[in-house]
Amino acid sequence: MSYAVKEVFYTLQGEGAQAGRAAVFCRFAGCNLWSGLERDRATARCRFCDTDFRGTDGAGGGYFVDAERLAAHIAACWPRDADPQAIPYVVCTGGEPALQLDAALIAALHAHGFEVGVESNGTLALPAGIDWVCISPKAGTELMVRRGDELKLVYPQPGAEPERYVGLAFEHRILQPLDDAERAAHTEAAAAHCLADPRWRLGIQMHKLVGLP
Ligand code: SF4
Repeated sequence: MSYAVKEVFYTLQGEGAQAGRAAVFCRFAGCNLWSGLERDRATARCRFCDTDFRGTDGAGGGYFVDAERLAAHIAACWPRDADPQAIPYVVCTGGEPALQLDAALIAALHAHGFEVGVESNGTLALPAGIDWVCISPKAGTELMVRRGDELKLVYPQPGAEPERYVGLAFEHRILQPLDDAERAAHTEAAAAHCLADPRWRLGIQMHKLVGLP
C-alpha cells in the first residue's frame, strides 16, 4: 500500500502521558471527521481541529509507495548520533492515522528499531502491534477503540463529557483544555475536574508553550 503523508518531523511530544519525549512525528494526510477545509468546518463532525492535515506538501511529507520507504524516511529523522539506549519513538498522527497505518508499516518501523505510538480519534479499528495507543474521543462519534494506553479528552466538549469515558480500559486519562479564545477558562475548569476526580490528569500542550511544532 502507498501512504499520503502531510509532514514528518523530529520534535518533543508536547501532549499527554508521553509529553517531553523525543519523537519523530508522522502526520498522515486526511481525516474521516473533517475535510480540513475551513468552509466545511461548521458542518464537520469534528469542529475544533487545530491541525493542517491536507495534502502532502509539509516538511518531510510526500507520497510513499511502500512501507519500507516510509519507515526509512522516518528513521532518517531520528538523530544519527543518538545514544543507542534511547529507543527511537515515532508518533503516527494526522489527520486520522487509522485511515492508512497498517501492519506492514508497523512491522517496517519495528524493523528500524522504533517504538510505534498512534494518536487517533478512535472511530476506526487500529491494526495490531502498536506500542502506545492514544485515543482522543470526539463528541457525536462512536468509539471503536475502547482500550489502550492513554485516553486524551479535549475539554470541554458538550456530548463528550469525561463521565462517558472514565470507565474504559485506558491506563492514563488526560483532560486537555480546548485551545480556543476561552483557553484560560477551560484550563481552570479542567483543573477543577481533575481535583474533583483524580482518575483524570490535567494535560497541557507543552509544545505550544515552548514553541515546538
Ligand atoms: S479528528 Fe483529529 S485530525 Fe480529525 S478533524 Fe478532529 S482533531 Fe482534526
